Amino acid sequence: MRALVKQTAGPGFQLKEVPEPTIRDDEVLIRVRRAGVCGTDVHIYEWDDWAKGRCKPPFVVGHEFAGDVVRVGSLVENVREGDRVTAEGHIVDGMCLLCRTGNAHVCPHTRIIGVDRDGCFADYIAMPATNVWHLDDNISYEVGGIHDPMGNAFHTALTADIPGATVLITGCGPIGIFAVGICRAAGASRVIASDVNPRRLELARTMGAHDVVHPREAEAVVQRETGGYGVDVVLEMSGVPSAIHQAFALVRVGGQVQMLGIPAKPMEVNFASEVIFKGITIYGVVGRRMYDTWHQMTRFLRSGEFDPTPVITHRFPLEGAEEAMEVIKSGEAGKVVFEIA
Ligand code: NAD
Ligand code: ZN
Repeated sequence: MRALVKQTAGPGFQLKEVPEPTIRDDEVLIRVRRAGVCGTDVHIYEWDDWAKGRCKPPFVVGHEFAGDVVRVGSLVENVREGDRVTAEGHIVDGMCLLCRTGNAHVCPHTRIIGVDRDGCFADYIAMPATNVWHLDDNISYEVGGIHDPMGNAFHTALTADIPGATVLITGCGPIGIFAVGICRAAGASRVIASDVNPRRLELARTMGAHDVVHPREAEAVVQRETGGYGVDVVLEMSGVPSAIHQAFALVRVGGQVQMLGIPAKPMEVNFASEVIFKGITIYGVVGRRMYDTWHQMTRFLRSGEFDPTPVITHRFPLEGAEEAMEVIKSGEAGKVVFEIA
């Protein structure tokens, strides 16, 4: 089969022929049709310090996908050949303290497809049957293929009190733009989206943001829209230190800051003034809750109140991997998807 492989410990990917994956008795084989491309893939492509510390080539890249089940292991009961599916890409042990107390999203033994084991930028992928998520008939493979980052946005937004809330979203990458639509669908009264990139602010507007602002205008707009109190909830989706400080500054006293964005390096925070005396609650987001987030996501899609398709701006065949990396790096893209079959 064809696969996009991280072949060596250095920059780049290689599109090559590799053997089809074999499956264990508790796994299924999936024909990949659509696969989302993520910032993480760019880190692996560029071979930055995070990738050097984490990944062990050679392996097949990619962790967001949808497709059809073509083979099932002998112990699998919940999945059949021909099922249209996507999957949770975090493979957990199911047995540890966290897994057995409903917190599998922070299982310390998590292995991620396309990072710690072979991923989905390929014709086929093997997945544990317990990670498979069935798609409704009217959900496209393309939308199925972006359930992973959409799930990050659902997890970040819906673990805060969104109905009626004033919300500031700092960072309108694909996940921030999804979050705009989710907050609208969940009944936020005002959604203010900030980014330094006008193209991304346009996408945030399309997804229903009431205000789209450059970070330097954010304070004035937040003050105006909240009677000077600050927003009830900030979804921090940039990972940029100045935006993180702004999140603490513009959330109201007693508000919630949901932290998804990952700063590249350690950063200083004045806990006394930015956190403690503001009485705020900070929530660190890891992946998607298993499987609360997935149920919520499916129900929002079913309701028709949330449509993620405008976020998808670019589509490439696997042969276009380099262009896909370039367009993501340029900042001109929303979500980028590989059309595999
Ligand atoms: P992205 O890099 O495409 O989006 C970040 C956005 O922030 C960009 O549009 C950028 O222009 C904008 N930005 C830069 N400076 C800003 C500022 N001062 N104020 C506001 N916006 C600013 O990333 P993405 O794929 O949407 O992911 C968002 C973040 O979430 C990244 O940091 C990513 O690493 C992280 N992430 C975390 C998890 C998790 O489980 N915690 C999962 C996936 C991604
Ligand atoms: Zn576990």
